[in-house]
Amino acid sequence: MNASAWQVAWVGLGANLGDPAATLREALAALAAHPEVRQDALSRFYRTGPIDSSGPDYVNAVVRLRTTLPPMGLLDLLQDIEQRHGRERPYRNAPRTLDLDLLLYDGQRLDSPRLTLPHPRMHQRAFVLRPLADIDPGMVLPQGRIDDLLRACADQDVVPLAD
Ligand code: AMP
Repeated sequence: MNASAWQVAWVGLGANLGDPAATLREALAALAAHPEVRQDALSRFYRTGPIDSSGPDYVNAVVRLRTTLPPMGLLDLLQDIEQRHGRERPYRNAPRTLDLDLLLYDGQRLDSPRLTLPHPRMHQRAFVLRPLADIDPGMVLPQGRIDDLLRACADQDVVPLAD
C-alpha cells in the first residue's frame, strides 16, 4: 500500500461537561489543523442521554476525515486532543470533557490492546449511528445496515441541537 495515500476515517466526538458544543468545535478545529488530516464531512450536533455513563446530557457528532496518518497515529492525535481538553479518567465511564473515538478506518479490522476497529460498540449506540446516517444514510456496517441498526436502538434519546 502507498504509505502516503489519503485514507477515509470516521471519528465520533462526545462531551458532557463545560460547554460541550464549543468543545466539539475546538476538537474539530484541532483535527483539521493537522497537516495530515482533512475534514471531509460533518454531521449535525445531537443532544443525547448518557449511556453507560453519568452526569449531564452529552453533545455528540461524527466527522468523516481524510488522513495520511496510519490508524495508530490517528489514535495518538485523538488522545492528544482529548488530553489538551483536560480529560481525566478517575473511573471507568466517568463524565468527560471530551471523548474522541476512532469508529472506522478504511474498512480495516484491528484488535490490538490500544485499538479495536471497527469500534466495538458503535453499532449499538444511537449517538454514533444517527450522526453517521447524516453523512451516509446508506451506510452498511459490518453488523448491518445503518437504518436497521438505528431501529434496534430507537429507545435511546438523540435530539438534534438547534442551530
Ligand atoms: P474510552 O475511555 O471509552 O474512550 O476508551 C479509551 C480507551 O479505549 C483507550 O485506552 C484506547 O486505547 C482504547 N480504544 C480501543 N479501541 C479504540 C477506538 N476504536 N477508538 C478509541 N479508543 C479506542
